[in-house]
Amino acid sequence: MQASGPPPHPTIGTPVQPAADPGAQGSGDPRRIALFGDIHANLEALEAVLADSAEQGCNDYICMGDIVGYNANPADCLEKVREMGCPVIKGNHDEDTAGNHSLESMNPVAATALEWTRGQLDDEQRTWLRRLRMVRQIEDFTVVHSTLDQPSNWNYVTNRFDAMSNFSYQFTQVCFHGHTHVPRVYIKDGKVREVPAESIVIEPGSKYFINVGSVGQPRDGDWRACYAIYDLAHKLVVFRRIEYDIETTQRKIREADLPPMLAERLADGR
Ligand code: ZN
Repeated sequence: MQASGPPPHPTIGTPVQPAADPGAQGSGDPRRIALFGDIHANLEALEAVLADSAEQGCNDYICMGDIVGYNANPADCLEKVREMGCPVIKGNHDEDTAGNHSLESMNPVAATALEWTRGQLDDEQRTWLRRLRMVRQIEDFTVVHSTLDQPSNWNYVTNRFDAMSNFSYQFTQVCFHGHTHVPRVYIKDGKVREVPAESIVIEPGSKYFINVGSVGQPRDGDWRACYAIYDLAHKLVVFRRIEYDIETTQRKIREADLPPMLAERLADGR
């Protein structure tokens, strides 16, 4: 099944690999990178995002972690991302699914879903998740699931004060992250401030810490799948919101006997 495509673990600094998509543009085209993460086993949302990013002319892809957890298609989402051969960083749900440790300290709904998810993946798939990197530098920017200060602590950045700690460890002008499932933009230009997650041009002299939002379980009150496009030629970051077949995703969650609130929260974007 995995006979073709580039190896799943390119080294740090390796140029972003184009997806194995026959519609992908040639190498002479300006780079348009789709950054997508917090998929959380929501296959319908993932497919909708990939279709939209192809329509948008994206020719590179980066997965921001948390491929699995919460929703009902962990193996399908894992294989889909893996087939793309793009850089992937590790999220906390990827790590928890890959391990065998107790999930007692976790909130009960997430723990139930993770326990279920562990049973849906085979050893080889869990090993693939375990080997994902926490942080990568790609081109002249960095990607991390949570924050650059102690990435394995999985701290949440929810305000500009949290973002300050990250900036102390951010040595590239731009760093993309996820984890909170809320798209946000923090800018450091003297002081640190937060600006709305809308189209933003990367200006010289400032640093940017950008949350690309969540594909499979947005938590900003908007149920639609979220991802970001980084247009390298124009130094432009654009956020995209994409409708998907949420009823199918919810039905699968109920059929899998996962906690019903996981289906309900999708509609609320919480
Ligand atoms: Zn997540």
